Amino acid sequence: MKLLVFNAGSSSLKYQLLEGKTEQVLAKGLVDRIGDAKSCHSWRIGDAHGDDSAAVADHGAAIRAIIAVLTDPAHAVAANLEEIAAVGHRVVHGGDYFSASVVVTGEVLEKLDEISPLAPLHNPAAVQCIRAARDFLPTATHVAAFDTAFHQTIPAYAHRYPIPFELYDKYKIRRYGFHGNSHRYVSARAAELLRVPLRDLKLISCHLGNGSSICAIKDAISVDTSMGFTPLDGLMMGTRSGAIDPAIVTFLQRHENLSPDQIDELLNMKSGLLGASGVSKDLRDVLDAQEQGDERARLAREMYAYSIKRYVGQYMAAMGGVDVIVVTAGVGENSPIMRRAAFEGLERFGIAVDPWRNIEADKGTGHGEEAGLYNAGPGEFKFSPQGSRVKLMVIPTNEELMIARDAKALIQST
Ligand code: ADP
Repeated sequence: MKLLVFNAGSSSLKYQLLEGKTEQVLAKGLVDRIGDAKSCHSWRIGDAHGDDSAAVADHGAAIRAIIAVLTDPAHAVAANLEEIAAVGHRVVHGGDYFSASVVVTGEVLEKLDEISPLAPLHNPAAVQCIRAARDFLPTATHVAAFDTAFHQTIPAYAHRYPIPFELYDKYKIRRYGFHGNSHRYVSARAAELLRVPLRDLKLISCHLGNGSSICAIKDAISVDTSMGFTPLDGLMMGTRSGAIDPAIVTFLQRHENLSPDQIDELLNMKSGLLGASGVSKDLRDVLDAQEQGDERARLAREMYAYSIKRYVGQYMAAMGGVDVIVVTAGVGENSPIMRRAAFEGLERFGIAVDPWRNIEADKGTGHGEEAGLYNAGPGEFKFSPQGSRVKLMVIPTNEELMIARDAKALIQST
């Protein structure tokens, strides 16, 4: 049995083909610049790889190009399309409707169309991709896996905003949260590595990439998360401001004459590390600039670390403590400087960074086991000192695997 995972962006389509039993990745690739004359399909199958340039008009055409590569007898990863038992589709927004992954039906598609205004930049592409994939792969079970679903367990006192409740009724304005598949994957993996049931842990999961969010997990469910009605809320990110005083928006509208679209662009594309440092949205560039003595870059780095620490404090209070903190994604997995800066000074709460593990552990594999983790895989390690009350861990995220597992579980249960 083979499982295909699609992650559609507005002009891109990422995919992975996995072997259902072993979870081995058989093929992966990306069709980029969909709708452009210069689209590119980059793929890798075992040792073979390619960068095929050709105009790809829409997501349907992208799927056709992907299928052509996967079924090419030269690679022998899928002799025919019937071998693909399920297709898991990443869908950013599931609104109030979906608290878990679901098999796509006509009714599900109708609900997804209804939700689209909540995520106008993300959902329409995913829905278009699902419709095309159902046509091209009619024998497969199609499954939608939502970034929001994991957070549907957040209690009302944490997910409702103190604005007139009629606005919730009218527009469904509430905290939804995102990165759910990532938080779900790393929290489950942390519990597995520590050999403690997840329901017995209070865990804070920090997904720190270009987009970043933190999630508080207690009794194995999400009880709060930093992204909100949209992915703009919460942590300072690469180009997004994260949480700011909402009155700044109306102030700027009045004094800079900004339209809603301009405000959206300012807060989503020009803020965060980029806006604060004036250097780059990429933390590596900001750290380099700081090394060269750039004071704005230093301040941006301090703001970024403080924003993480502030949410960790909030979620310790929300859960009445913490046992495990997991960091993941580009910054979490690769930046010892940020890991130290975000978690230093919290020794009173049982949180400490082991300087050697933090710097050395990610240079190779296997250090997870040395640090007392059971069966740690590549890039997985603990960076708290031995015997530390709160375990600090790096776990590379794997949203595609989570989606593939959901798709497999759903075909087995139907
Ligand atoms: P996305 O949210 O787009 O999936 P990633 O999880 O790949 O992003 O994270 C990308 C970010 O990770 C980069 O913009 C960069 O800021 C950061 N990053 C990657 N490697 C390093 C590193 N070695 N040191 C510091 N930051 C890094």
